[in-house]
Amino acid sequence: LEKQLRYAQKMEAIGTLAGGIAHDFNNLLMAIQGNASLILLNLNTGHPHYEMMKSIEKQVRSGARLTAQLLGYARKGRYEVKPTNLNHLMRETAEAFSRTRKEIRVNLDLAGGLYVVEADQGQIEQVLLNLFVNAADAMPGGGQLHVRTRNTTHEALRGRVYRPRSGNYVLLQCIDSGKGMDKTTQERIFEPFFTTKEMGRGTGLGLASVYGIVKAHNGYIEVESYQGRGTTFSIYLPATGKKILDTGDIEQEIMEGTG
Ligand code: ADP
Repeated sequence: LEKQLRYAQKMEAIGTLAGGIAHDFNNLLMAIQGNASLILLNLNTGHPHYEMMKSIEKQVRSGARLTAQLLGYARKGRYEVKPTNLNHLMRETAEAFSRTRKEIRVNLDLAGGLYVVEADQGQIEQVLLNLFVNAADAMPGGGQLHVRTRNTTHEALRGRVYRPRSGNYVLLQCIDSGKGMDKTTQERIFEPFFTTKEMGRGTGLGLASVYGIVKAHNGYIEVESYQGRGTTFSIYLPATGKKILDTGDIEQEIMEGTG
């Protein structure tokens, strides 16, 4: 528990620092971008500096994307929670994702009568997208991505490293059959800026934001990973006692990336 507390404090400190840097950096980038765009407007495409300016503008844009992610990671409070049907959110996010990654087959497995969860929908969507993108990146040759929702209780969580609050939980799972991770990687995945991806591909902020968002919802994350076999991310979100009214059956569907 002490170790977890230290970890949480460390993440908190990094978050504050990152937020400050991101904010200042964002202002600098905005100024550069504004000027680059102005110069570009006044250059015709044949100008010897045109390509250089284009490249500056492009790099600035990718810098801005990074600072936006950083700000997202560092953001505090102001979560807009609403009673949420996570089956809906899971389906919509999976559909949107599968349109962008055609090599991945998404297998939806949604529990009927799922508990309603008080959640910030935009933030949970971000969590799911980050998990899906990582799963797809772990299967460069394509493959199956299983996403599941289930009702569960704190009993299912007992005996783990943390002490769950009693009550209902909804479990969101993202299961890939990708390259998996070794133990040292697993220990560091939630650290901001930790990435094993090549320069320009990974920022190392995806799972750090996942961690922050799940924590803000009083939830828990578990990771199970086997090298060469795949990875399962399980997210437990505290739920209300209310169930979503539907047929009560588990729904299964396979989406081919055809959209
Ligand atoms: P990024 O995706 O930018 O690298 P993340 O914080 O999302 O940053 O992930 C950190 C690291 O965790 C990744 O670089 C990768 O090594 C590892 N990782 C995350 N998800 C998976 C997965 N599903 N399979 C294998 N490795 C993963």
